[in-house]
Amino acid sequence: MDRLFSQIESRRDQLIALTQQLIRIPTLNPPGLHYRDICDAIAARMAPQGWDCQLIRAVGAPGDSEAYPRWNIVARREGTGSGDCVHFNSHHDVVEVGHGWTRDPFGGELTDEDGGRIYGRGACDMKGGLAASIIAAEAFVAACPDFAGSIEISATADEESGGFGGVAYLAQQGHFDRVQHVLIPEPLHKDRICLGHRGVWWAEIETEGRIAHGSMPFLGDCAVRHMGAVLAEIEANLIPLLASRRTAMPVIPDGARSSTLNINSIHGGAVEQAEDYTGLPSACVPDRCRIVIDRRYLIEEDLTEVKREVTALLERVRAERPTFRYEVRDLFEVIPSMTDRDAPVVTATAAAIETVLGREAAYVVSPGTYDQKHIDRIGKLKNCIAYGPGVLDLAHQPDEWIGVQDMEESAKVMSLVLHRLLHAG
Ligand SMILES: [Zn+2]
Repeated sequence: MDRLFSQIESRRDQLIALTQQLIRIPTLNPPGLHYRDICDAIAARMAPQGWDCQLIRAVGAPGDSEAYPRWNIVARREGTGSGDCVHFNSHHDVVEVGHGWTRDPFGGELTDEDGGRIYGRGACDMKGGLAASIIAAEAFVAACPDFAGSIEISATADEESGGFGGVAYLAQQGHFDRVQHVLIPEPLHKDRICLGHRGVWWAEIETEGRIAHGSMPFLGDCAVRHMGAVLAEIEANLIPLLASRRTAMPVIPDGARSSTLNINSIHGGAVEQAEDYTGLPSACVPDRCRIVIDRRYLIEEDLTEVKREVTALLERVRAERPTFRYEVRDLFEVIPSMTDRDAPVVTATAAAIETVLGREAAYVVSPGTYDQKHIDRIGKLKNCIAYGPGVLDLAHQPDEWIGVQDMEESAKVMSLVLHRLLHAG
């Protein structure tokens, strides 16, 4: 074990340089920039060290095009004996920069705050985790060359937009058939094991009315007023009901231990004009109004029931409003996923956290989904967790950063997990 940890400590400069190198490749999604470049950079590092690097384009997946190809990389290393395969999966895409930065978002600037921070878009979500897993695996192979089984490191596209050009594609191609354990180094913090996530239902609700001249609204039927009635019902009844439902899942933060509903958007009436349009709107009664709802549900809830609850609400509104007509369209759904606490990847990681950090691991569930959904549902692999360095609250924020100490400690945990699962001597 000391041999393993000194291998990681001796790679501190490499860990920093690799994180900076990954941050400096601006893999913005949308639209999906430089995916091939980041895969090439990883292959250029790992292939000369004896890793078998496969570059896989998710041809035909949502978002994939000649202009924006969805490239993924899987690097694999075989041990000297037979055994399990441990797979580290990181997404390589990052979200837009947004406003409020005081650092170069693609500069990879290193400061000495807290013993070392690296700044940049994707620093914590999740290029720091990707770098930590690569260093952990390289250090493990150097310390224990005679391990049994195999190790895989993947960097995949599009997690920030659903993962269909990334992990979902790999899972559809059968890439997880030969894998027994998965760790996803999302920024959940170095002492936490994330067992899974809540469920999701996105839907569009449209109310219908009838267009008329705005000076005689009584001749039309206002779709926005109908939607107002829907929103009032959601506000008065549905939101308090959802807040009262609590889950046994250890979801963080605490507010997300309840069911939640977000109104993602609302559009009604004439389309909004471009900012440089200087005219007035025309006088019309809106005949359409649409909202998109983002419903996050608990493992104790059933998706059919979640949908039925919204339909029942709309029916209550209809009972009060004789001309009320509506449509509900499903946009997206994810079943909740939660790995058992006694699954091998969980117990191995918990033991490693205790050894490295000297405290017990905390078990959490993520409020939002991540690529575990595809590994569970398409890959049919339940033995999967998210474990990685960084502070989740910093994800998608300006001045996002990752702590060098956090990366180093979580790399130690990851290498120890490899040691435990791959029967290394
Ligand atoms: Zn992420």
